Amino acid sequence: MTTPPRIAIVGGGPAGLMCARVLQGYGIEPVVYDADAAVDSRDPGGTLDLHADSGQIALEDAGLMDAFRALARVEGQAKSRRDHHGAVLDEFIPAAGDEAAPEIDRGQLRTMLYEHLEPDTVRWGHKLRHLTALGGGVHRLDFANGASIEADLVIGADGAWSPVRRLLTDAVPHYLGVCFLDARFDDVDTRHPEIAAIVGDGHMFSTDGDGRAVIVQRNSNGMVRGYVAFRAALDWHVIAGVDLTDPDAVRSYLLREFSEWSAAMRPLITDNDGDYIPRSFFALPAPLTWDHVPGATLIGDAAHLMAPFGGHGTNLALLDGAELAHAIHQHSSLDDAVARYEAAMFPRSGELAVGSNTALTRFFCHDVPGRTAPSSRPRARTPELPGQGSGIPTSASRRRAL
Ligand SMILES: Cc1cc2nc3c(=O)[nH]c(=O)nc-3n(C[C@H](O)[C@H](O)[C@H](O)COP(=O)(O)OP(=O)(O)OC[C@H]3O[C@@H](n4cnc5c(N)ncnc54)[C@H](O)[C@@H]3O)c2cc1C
Repeated sequence: MTTPPRIAIVGGGPAGLMCARVLQGYGIEPVVYDADAAVDSRDPGGTLDLHADSGQIALEDAGLMDAFRALARVEGQAKSRRDHHGAVLDEFIPAAGDEAAPEIDRGQLRTMLYEHLEPDTVRWGHKLRHLTALGGGVHRLDFANGASIEADLVIGADGAWSPVRRLLTDAVPHYLGVCFLDARFDDVDTRHPEIAAIVGDGHMFSTDGDGRAVIVQRNSNGMVRGYVAFRAALDWHVIAGVDLTDPDAVRSYLLREFSEWSAAMRPLITDNDGDYIPRSFFALPAPLTWDHVPGATLIGDAAHLMAPFGGHGTNLALLDGAELAHAIHQHSSLDDAVARYEAAMFPRSGELAVGSNTALTRFFCHDVPGRTAPSSRPRARTPELPGQGSGIPTSASRRRAL
């Protein structure tokens, strides 16, 4: 190992950027390599709620709570649940001062984390192609652009299809049997007032009790984003002969699939302003662990890709990033730091992954009207929706464990 250690973080999503930020707070300079061309080179997706007992702890550790508050939408914590006729079954309006899980757009979160790193920390356009163990925990990383580097610690923050994961485990994500299609409504208050009224300030979840759901959330800048969700084979569109790049063809399919939904709810399915981008859900086997490998570890989705039923993914990604950085600061050996981080991360993420995956498959395969999806969150007198819920042990217990 060289001094200072060469730390390569592969992946500049929430996990990787948070890890880099907290390391830099300790005077440790990692380099982040990301396949994207720039921080904003692709559509980042919708909104996220950052939980007080996980994601917000990481933000605090990174000194970014004020920056988060400046962007976060506390009113976005509002949620409602409706049946497929539009009848309200349950509603939650956050009380003044409730900061349990404010919302932030994914793109805003990523940019905020990126802008708080030292210049040149992130090397965009670096897609990892190949990793070679050189002995003594050192790895060589070869990138698609021809660049090649060596590192004393490779941190795989490279998401669902992580190439770094192959160093540690043979586990691969499996399909959960549910397809979510992106839905987006621009300038919603003016152009889609009926949708604005249904969604309100926060999050609306609607189901027909037979494996179909519409989940929509208010984002910043007058936009509503969400998903039209249904049980489906991975190649459902091939089987049905639907061209996913043709919104009218998708719309016709959805009108047949959601034929029982009322006229009031149908605009949520048909009036999408964007493309119907499919987000088929995959998850890693859970709980997932691996034997310690010198010089490599995983954080975020790379370590514990799970169904987004519970809203833990980004929260855990942020927490993993911060906690690994603390461990690196606190231990003189990288091996000891990684071992301590993994010992705390495995049970924390494993339990939530099992719960989230089970909740998603149960909900879409066996849901019944009026039933809420399983919840682990004590506050949930509202329905348990994707993007809601926690149940993670508090920071104090974790800090003592490090
Ligand atoms: C439809 C949907 C809804 C969701 N809703 C929520 C929610 O409400 N709340 C929540 O907390 N979570 C939610 N999640 C989960 C959340 O998106 C993830 O858990 C979170 O993004 C994980 O962060 P990450 O940094 O680990 O990985 P990612 O955000 O996936 O970032 C990985 C990074 O690695 C880079 N990368 C990948 N491969 C390579 C490579 N070979 N070389 C270099 N770079 C590479 C990518 O460009 C990317 O920037 C949702 C997920 C989906 C799909």
